[in-house]
Amino acid sequence: MPRERAPLGGRRLLVALGGNALQGARGTGTWTDAVRQMRRTARALARAVADGHELVLTHGNGPQVGNLLREAELGAAEVPPPPMFVLDAESEGQVGYLIASELSAALDRAGAPRSVLPLVCRTEVDPRDPAFRIPDKPVGRYYTRADADRLRRSRGWTLREDAVRGGWRRVVPSPRPRRWLEAPAVRAALDAGLGRRCVFVVTGGGGVPVVREARGRYRGVDAVIDKDRAAALAARALGCGTLVIVTDVPGAAVAFGTPSARWLGEVSAGELDRRRRAGEFGAGTMAPKVEAVLDFVRHGGRRAIITDIGSLGRALEGRAGTRVRDENRPGPYRTRRRAAPGRGEGRA
Ligand code: ADP
Ligand code: MG
Repeated sequence: MPRERAPLGGRRLLVALGGNALQGARGTGTWTDAVRQMRRTARALARAVADGHELVLTHGNGPQVGNLLREAELGAAEVPPPPMFVLDAESEGQVGYLIASELSAALDRAGAPRSVLPLVCRTEVDPRDPAFRIPDKPVGRYYTRADADRLRRSRGWTLREDAVRGGWRRVVPSPRPRRWLEAPAVRAALDAGLGRRCVFVVTGGGGVPVVREARGRYRGVDAVIDKDRAAALAARALGCGTLVIVTDVPGAAVAFGTPSARWLGEVSAGELDRRRRAGEFGAGTMAPKVEAVLDFVRHGGRRAIITDIGSLGRALEGRAGTRVRDENRPGPYRTRRRAAPGRGEGRA
């Protein structure tokens, strides 16, 4: 059995899993497929833990919440449909269970046993966030115009026409996450050394969006919190040294989708930000990841990485993925010899 390495100082690591690391690109959406994909993901994560990283996980929930919305709608005649924020909580349980069962087995096999603890998390958003005035995040299925009118009246939804695909879709606001309510407790647990025994799974799908009411009560709201933004917030709140955003491409590319596309390897925050402002990264896909890694390194994070699950190990060693440092503080990439390019570097 492989031996676990001694814990490494400053190695608290937050990994955000995107839809692909959870479900697989060619999956049929069945549970069996999800398990198969997670098994592969869990092996890579377990290796990082065995190498001495103190792992915390977060994940997206787009497809899961989409399915739960559809189920709620189809069953509405028999079972009252829950509000969307409750479905967010359900998705944290669903995905959390999948991660817990596969990752704990992989950790055992890697000789680094841990309890995997998925939490139902709440993320506070500002009710005055401009996103509430212009909901723009499409969720769920497409409707006819007549259905859209009916849902607008009966459920108070906002629906927008999608001229490209044809049909109407519900849109919800995507406000910025302001505060993750359970962060102080998880931080205290990790600072007390619990990271040696547990892997917390936090703010899944960005966490359940809540707004603060009078007397300190919190109320759920129908909104979508971007999981990449929430990942940066969680990594900062937990004092992580490294944030890794795992997606279905080996990194962020410039001239993406053109013959001259090129993956970015090691890159400064300044350069990445310039490219972001030049519109190099897809809105709603790569742009929020780039914003998240910039947010993290500019608020004290040591380094941030965007990569795919197969490259995780090499990315953590500085040999793959798009790796970002803040040029204003000395980081590992400043003093280190420049590593040879690996997969996820050079031409895309
Ligand atoms: P996730 O589920 O991991 O959040 P997304 O689909 O939201 O995944 O984002 C990843 C996708 O971003 C890639 O599959 C790619 O198609 C797209 N993308 C847009 N612009 C870029 C870019 N400049 N470099 C790399 N990928 C990009
Ligand atoms: Mg995404």
